[in-house]
Amino acid sequence: MRLSVATNFDPELVEQCRDYPVTELFGKLQTDAVGGGRAPYQLAKVSRRQLAKHVAHARQAGIAFNYLLNSSCQGNREITRKGQQEINELLDWISTIGVTAVTVASPFMLQLIKDRYPQLKVRISVFGGIDRVRKAQMWEELGADCIVLDSILVNRELETLAKIRKAVKCDIELMANNNCLTGCAMSPMHMNALAHTGQSWHANKGFFIDWCFLKCTEMKLRDPVHYIRSEWIRPEDLPLYEDLGYDLFKIAERDIPTEMMMRRVKAYSERRYDGNLLDLIQAYGFKGIKEDHRYYRRGLGWLLRFVLRPGLANPFRMLPLKRLAELRGMTRPLHGNLPVYIDNRALDGFMERFKNNSCIDVDCEDCRWCHDFAAKAVTIDAARQEATLAVYDELFASLNSGSMWRYRNPHKTDSTD
Ligand SMILES: [Zn+2]
Repeated sequence: MRLSVATNFDPELVEQCRDYPVTELFGKLQTDAVGGGRAPYQLAKVSRRQLAKHVAHARQAGIAFNYLLNSSCQGNREITRKGQQEINELLDWISTIGVTAVTVASPFMLQLIKDRYPQLKVRISVFGGIDRVRKAQMWEELGADCIVLDSILVNRELETLAKIRKAVKCDIELMANNNCLTGCAMSPMHMNALAHTGQSWHANKGFFIDWCFLKCTEMKLRDPVHYIRSEWIRPEDLPLYEDLGYDLFKIAERDIPTEMMMRRVKAYSERRYDGNLLDLIQAYGFKGIKEDHRYYRRGLGWLLRFVLRPGLANPFRMLPLKRLAELRGMTRPLHGNLPVYIDNRALDGFMERFKNNSCIDVDCEDCRWCHDFAAKAVTIDAARQEATLAVYDELFASLNSGSMWRYRNPHKTDSTD
């Protein structure tokens, strides 16, 4: 087993990873010329010097470092002289600080890196959309050293996974613990939106309202089947994938507390977790982390810095976002009853259905497999659910109607506005 682990740039994470089969850490700067798959507010604020130091520390511990350049859209800036200068400057730096590999989503980025920096290994991101044999072969023919399969499309398609593994020689990585929705219709919009959030040249300068994230988390809270009809691989189910020839697994999430990250690394290394599956797959809503932890000390200012831009949207309309961040445990640890609990033990046997059956042309309403497991495994605190869904309703009303961007007296009815 090899684990590629998201880093929060805490030196302690490197030290603790030494005890596990962690072969690589991955991460990036909050913003750079290329961008990636997370918004700056989700990433640790590190300088180039701090990132380089972290890479050196990891290398000294025998752990490689993968720098993410996996934005799904570069806005065509990459075909301009200015864009090329910025890409060269970033890659010059990356290639001198001990980074062993980079992850890209663009075939042009793959080939320009292979041409200009042949010492760098290039991995294809989940955003490369690899979900079938031919696409995997094509990326390999284009020069990929490793491909990460599109987890929301293939993580539960075991027969397809077996065929892809046999069809290519390059290394293949599986994303183990993301919790996007299976076959999500929002995925293309979301990856492109995230790509632009972290591009240093982008006009929004980090400003971002993540409509897809809001919609996805609302859907899950409203109907628990969405927690199950997802892409995650439980630690207990790794052997199924190992039997198909997969041994490299990617563990998210970046910039969460080291304690939470190591709980994930330990669970996947031991192929077992007794507890709330959300501890492994969700990027917020932690329990058992101290209030004064570095992670929470960044405070609400951390979020407001990215969303309060009076010139771009009405700050008053942003207040529900702040309430939502509190309700969902993004700004402080959760106490008492958890809003959502997924009993991982109740999911034993969940993968049986997928051993010989695809989901691609199946209507979930006819199958009901995930619904039945959701009923067994997911517990939602009804009072919190109701209060939180009301905030989502308020937010979507202002986003979908456009009032998020209007300045007018909310008490005055004016049909012309
Ligand atoms: Zn774009």
